[in-house]
Amino acid sequence: MTEKNKELYTSRLLKMKEELIATLSKKYDEAINLGNDGIQDSADEAYNIYNRSLMLGNVETGALKLRLVEQAIVRVENGTYGVCIECEEPITDKRLEYVPFARYCTDCKTELEKKGLVKV
Ligand SMILES: [Zn+2]
Repeated sequence: MTEKNKELYTSRLLKMKEELIATLSKKYDEAINLGNDGIQDSADEAYNIYNRSLMLGNVETGALKLRLVEQAIVRVENGTYGVCIECEEPITDKRLEYVPFARYCTDCKTELEKKGLVKV
């Protein structure tokens, strides 16, 4: 990994991290405040509880992504970024562009997904 690449990867990951944090706190607030804006009957309440759990599920997925981004930043620092943690082959630039926090190469990810072992 060249210094230039290192900078590119880091800035890309940091930007993603910022965006994730902003989206996450917004979504979390929305979920928590759902239905707190007036009088609600029991049907509203059931609907809100259901929706809140869906929204919090999204927050969880986002939090997982955030953790992966943070781990990726560490991998850039210690020079192991862009290498598949399964087969140790390099991950393509194209994949890293779309999924900057990718831990697996496309082949390994497909294989792990088939086994239901990995979602991100
Ligand atoms: Zn691999």
